[in-house]
Amino acid sequence: MKAVVVREVGKVGVEEVAEPEISAGQLLVKIEACSICSSTDVHIVEGEDPYAKLPCILGHESVGEVVKVGAEVDGFAVGDRVVGGASGGLRPDGLYSCYGSMAEYGIASPLRAPKLPASLVAEDAVLAFQAAECIHGVRIAQIESTDKVVILGQGSIGLIFTQLAGERWADQIIAVDLLESRLDVSRRLGADFTIDASLVDPVEEVLSLTGGLGADVVIEAAGVPESFRQSFKMVRPGGKILVFGYHVKPVDRFEAIEFYYREPRVFGVRGFGLTPAIGLENLTIAVRLLLEKRLLSEGLVTHVLPLSKAEQGFMHVGDKSAIKVVLKP
Ligand SMILES: [Zn+2]
Repeated sequence: MKAVVVREVGKVGVEEVAEPEISAGQLLVKIEACSICSSTDVHIVEGEDPYAKLPCILGHESVGEVVKVGAEVDGFAVGDRVVGGASGGLRPDGLYSCYGSMAEYGIASPLRAPKLPASLVAEDAVLAFQAAECIHGVRIAQIESTDKVVILGQGSIGLIFTQLAGERWADQIIAVDLLESRLDVSRRLGADFTIDASLVDPVEEVLSLTGGLGADVVIEAAGVPESFRQSFKMVRPGGKILVFGYHVKPVDRFEAIEFYYREPRVFGVRGFGLTPAIGLENLTIAVRLLLEKRLLSEGLVTHVLPLSKAEQGFMHVGDKSAIKVVLKP
């Protein structure tokens, strides 16, 4: 089968590799679509992910059709359409599977594979992963519908949070990014205010938008030291910070004195849930929102390419001309 493989840092290639073999508790899925995760996949390619090993097959945000059911799996049949997900590990051919679903076939765990109706197109369905992560974050931080929320970073995660604003999980959304083109999408998707951090100091702007107090909740979805530091300076005393970004670099020059002055409550988020049960719950909610068209791929999915053009897809993500790229085998 064809798969997107990283053998050395900085190089993405499409190769012919053996199909994966499932264990008794897994599902073999024929992948319909897999999106490029601008965090995990990109950090693996750039050699910045401390948990990834090379050479590896990329990809975790996938959907597909079950073509083989492990002997010990109940409740699934060949032909079911599922949110893929994938399992990591070392394959017999020496390739690591960094989730491994940017390929023609992938492995899904029945514990984390909600079924998908035929009516949901693959380009929308792949958003279920990131949407589930956002839903997980909203639940962890117990964000209230009366909260003023700042979202630092308007990549696909930040924009999903912004779009979910219509679900009344927050009272007011202040979206921050360095790219005006993204803030334009933020406004279309429901942001009440946007701040171009390449032109103004976002901390000062947030303080002025909140009467000098600071935001009830800051969602740090940029994953860079600067936005982490800013989060602690724009949250109101007693407010909440949700550290969502995948920080592959250490945060330097952090002024821990803010813990004293602002007494913030700080939350971390790992994927769409620490346990399979929580993950399945969040994924199921995400699929429902997509089905009910309360979450749309429009404005978020900017490119749909064949799997063979994976390299081009990564270039678009790298130069920020794309927000979300979906690859189809
Ligand atoms: Zn991801």
